[in-house]
Amino acid sequence: MAAIQETLKGVEPKPRRINRGFVMRLGTQTSLDFNPGCEYPIEDENILAAKASLDVTTLTDDQAMERIVREVIPHEIGHTLGLRHNFKASADVKNLTDGAPSTTVMDYQNSLASLTEPGPYDYAAIAYAYDGDKSLYEGKSFFFATDGSNAVDPLSNQFDEGDPLTYYTGRYAHFAKLRDAGFFPSLASYGRAQRRTLEVIRKFVNRGEQSKAAFDFLLKALTEKSPTPPFSAIERLQAMLVLTEPAPAGLARFNPRAQYQSLDDAEEAALAQGLVTNVVPDGKDIFEVRLAMVETLKARNNIYGYKALEAISKAYDKATAQGADGAQAKPLPPREQELALRIKQAVSAYFNK
Ligand SMILES: [Zn+2]
Repeated sequence: MAAIQETLKGVEPKPRRINRGFVMRLGTQTSLDFNPGCEYPIEDENILAAKASLDVTTLTDDQAMERIVREVIPHEIGHTLGLRHNFKASADVKNLTDGAPSTTVMDYQNSLASLTEPGPYDYAAIAYAYDGDKSLYEGKSFFFATDGSNAVDPLSNQFDEGDPLTYYTGRYAHFAKLRDAGFFPSLASYGRAQRRTLEVIRKFVNRGEQSKAAFDFLLKALTEKSPTPPFSAIERLQAMLVLTEPAPAGLARFNPRAQYQSLDDAEEAALAQGLVTNVVPDGKDIFEVRLAMVETLKARNNIYGYKALEAISKAYDKATAQGADGAQAKPLPPREQELALRIKQAVSAYFNK
C-alpha cells in the first residue's frame, strides 16, 4: 500500500462514480461490499465449495468470513481507484511471487495465502494509470481477463489457483472424497459444486493443448455411474452434447443432429456406453431424457450407437421380465412401452436387412 500512496501523492483522482456500501447476504451472516456490481458470490453454496477446495473444512464460518473481508477490502479499494477484475491472474504462474496465489487483489482469491495487500499487477496497473509509468509491467506480460471472459477463457476463473485444469481436476476428486465423508449437507449441494468444476474443465475442450486431457477427464466423469450420481440425467446429457459440439453456445441447447467432430473409436464407444448408462429404465431418470438419449444414439448412425440401442433394448426386456420369484415386474407406463417397442424395432433383424 505504501508504494501506491507514494504513487498517488499529489494526484487527485476523479472518482468516476460514487461507491455505495451495501449489505450482501452470507447465509445467516452479512458482509459489506463497497462496490455495486462487484459481488463476491459468498452464498452458502460457494462458501461450502471454497472451504472444501481449500481443504479447511474445519474453518468456522466466522473464520471464513474474516479471511474474505481481509481480501475484499483492498479489492474494493482497487475498484475505487479504477481497476477492473482480473480473473486470469491466478493462472499467471510465471509472474507469481513468493507462493502468492495471484498477481492481484482484483482476482477472486481462493487460498489461505490470499493477498491482503496489492500484488505486482496492482502496482504496475496503478503506476501506469496514474503516472504513465510503464516500468513495472514492461517485460512481464501480466495475464489479464475480466468479467466477460469467464464463459470462454479456460484460464479465466473465479476462485481457482495455479493451472486451472490441474486445480479443477484435483478439486473434482477432492469433492468426491468429501462427499463420502459426509461433508456436503445434501447430494444436490455436492452436485452443484461439482457442476461448477466440470463447467470449467469443459472450457478446455477444443481449445489449446490441454483439450485432449480435458475431454478424456469429462468423458470419464460423465459416463461413470456412481452409487450416488452428482448429476441428474439431463445434466449428463447436456454435458455429453457439449462434449460433442465444436462450439457450445449454451448448455441447454439440444441438437441430436449436430455434426460430431474428432471422436476416435474409443471415444465413440465410451460416449455410447455413457448414454446407455443413463438411459436404462431404473426409475431414476425421467422419460424425456431417455427419449432424447435414444434420439442421440440414432443420430450417431454408427455401430456404437447401434450396439448401445441394442443394450438399452435388452435392459427394457429385463425391466419388464418376470422376476425369479415369479412376481410380475411393474408394467411400464404406456409411452415408455412405446419407446421400448421403437428401440426394439430399430435394432431388429428386419431393419438390418
Ligand atoms: Zn470486484
